[in-house]
Amino acid sequence: MALSIIESCVNCWACEPLCPSKAIYEAKPHFMIDARKCTECEGDYADGQCASICPIEGAILDGHGEAVNPPGSLTGIPPQKMAAAMAEIQAR
Ligand code: SF4
Ligand code: SF4
Repeated sequence: MALSIIESCVNCWACEPLCPSKAIYEAKPHFMIDARKCTECEGDYADGQCASICPIEGAILDGHGEAVNPPGSLTGIPPQKMAAAMAEIQAR
């Protein structure tokens, strides 16, 4: 199976140099992963290197379409708390 990058990618370039399979490429509107090349880093690293460095929660999905770094996993802020804070800010 292969990981995939979705539209919330901010094109930061962090993942591209780390891929041992050269599966990540620049595209429009965001970086993509060539599913034929992605090995999920098996045999090279314990974890997918792209997802390990990606700073954007939810930008990389696993082979089942689940976010490797789901909301709250990088910031430590529970999604409900983030939603409440955003609602409070927007109401100002
Ligand atoms: S999981 Fe590994 S092989 Fe697949 S795109 Fe990410 S860095 Fe490359
Ligand atoms: S590290 Fe994440 S945000 Fe940066 S280019 Fe890769 S997928 Fe996009």
